[in-house]
Amino acid sequence: TNVYHNLRPRDALPPPHLPISAADHAFSLLHQSLSNSLHTTASFIDSTTARRLSYSDFLRHVGSLSSALQSRLGFSKGDTAFVLSPTCLEIPILYFSLLSLGVAFSPANPLSTPAEISRQIQISKPSVAFAAKSTAHKLPHTTTTISTILIDSDYFNSMMTMMTLSESDLSSATSNPIQSRISQSDTAAILYSSGTTGRVKGVELTHGNMIAGISTWPRRRGREVVLITTPLFHTYGVAMCVKAVAMGETAVLMTSTKRFDLEVMLKAVEDYRVTWMPVSPPIVVAMAKAEAVERYDLSSLREMLCGGAPLGKDASERFKARFPHGYGLTESAVSPARMLDAEEAKRHGSVGRLNPHVDVKVIDTVTGMAQSPGRRGELWIRGAGTMKGYVGDEEATASALDDEGWLKTGDLGYIDRDGFVYIIDRLKELIKYKSYQVPPAELEHLLQSHPEIVDSAVIPYPDEDAGEIPMAFVVRKPGSTLNEAQVAPHKKLRRVSFCSAIPKSAAGKILRRELIEHALSSPSPKL
Ligand code: AMP
Repeated sequence: TNVYHNLRPRDALPPPHLPISAADHAFSLLHQSLSNSLHTTASFIDSTTARRLSYSDFLRHVGSLSSALQSRLGFSKGDTAFVLSPTCLEIPILYFSLLSLGVAFSPANPLSTPAEISRQIQISKPSVAFAAKSTAHKLPHTTTTISTILIDSDYFNSMMTMMTLSESDLSSATSNPIQSRISQSDTAAILYSSGTTGRVKGVELTHGNMIAGISTWPRRRGREVVLITTPLFHTYGVAMCVKAVAMGETAVLMTSTKRFDLEVMLKAVEDYRVTWMPVSPPIVVAMAKAEAVERYDLSSLREMLCGGAPLGKDASERFKARFPHGYGLTESAVSPARMLDAEEAKRHGSVGRLNPHVDVKVIDTVTGMAQSPGRRGELWIRGAGTMKGYVGDEEATASALDDEGWLKTGDLGYIDRDGFVYIIDRLKELIKYKSYQVPPAELEHLLQSHPEIVDSAVIPYPDEDAGEIPMAFVVRKPGSTLNEAQVAPHKKLRRVSFCSAIPKSAAGKILRRELIEHALSSPSPKL
């Protein structure tokens, strides 16, 4: 079969599968690269308040919090903790404390609506929720079984600081008995994704998946300062946060609770002499347009990595020559393709070279046959980073993962003879608004609950700044006077078109491709 690690010409092959780190569990990554810089190196810096935690502060807080959660609150391996908070220094402390206890963390977008949060809680079944004062009101009131802990409270702070670890405790922090009972197959995190169809699901990632994700990053010499621009509830942000700790980087967190602000980001690069920065396409587009870029000293910045959603052609051409690109998805903790240096970044249109830790097949969507280089099909991937499954949803898991462990990405693309991956289209139903997932099925469900709406379909519509915006086709009841503006506030629709019927296949599946083509040929105004 055309499995890609076999197919590429020998001289173009990246090294064969590298050994994945022997770490037992993700928490033990923490010590891997911390030698004598424990006290002097900052682990995390809050870009708004300039508060910084050295690695020894970080370890002390993690040690204290995990012991408090265990002894005071009875947390134990196998529990799940829901997390709903804007980015703050407490989040990485919390993640690592939970990892050390074998408790899965399940972070959600703090901008989610209460209905979305209820749904996510039904899926992951947490026993506790960590929230900020600004988000706690969104947690469902009806569920009495979930206790809430505010992470910006004196109580949380006391748990983080109650225990002072001695120097010897610090150095043996990874060998404590709680952690050694955790193995690579245990669940580390449950992240939310709608996958290829329907509504949101809980992606179960194991400690082994996370370790694999981290092990595939090249080690760099010298001290790296990373500015994490991506939110800490998304797989991209989680990965960057764990990677920073595993590699002893200094991570600057964008903590402002207001909307993303490009100048705040540029100022943070200047102030903290940031050396590299993972970003998503809207940031690249904004940087390409903004004059402000000229006003800040960005000379420390050696690299940006763009991923999370497709990058538009213009921005791509302007930026590719300098910045690498990467392609990933929540369902795999190892990104299937990534560019490693400026040389690779010259491949316009590619999302990067195949990651040697991932097997890839390109499957013809009609015949189901594995394709040879240059021929398009759905990308299927397999490897140590592939999720365990969708939590509590055997049916969705079985349709995403086959018996041999191949994960269907729902992305259409091809791979060239040098192992560079090109994504041409998305087969799955997903819309990526500013790189955030918007599952069309959720919006359709909301629209259909409106008494004057007979039927509806939601599609991605291209947008320069956001990448894609959700657009709805709506069939109104006869005589209805419903207008576009009345429909739009339902979640995040940004374009609406009324029509007489939604085109569907014989099996009743919405023919989204037809609608996308129709929308592009006769655009309706943006709301
Ligand atoms: P998420 O699970 O939110 O990370 O979304 C993953 C999906 O985003 C992928 O399956 C792709 O459809 C899309 N995506 C991510 N990175 C890229 C990229 N570099 N180019 C094109 N699409 C991408």
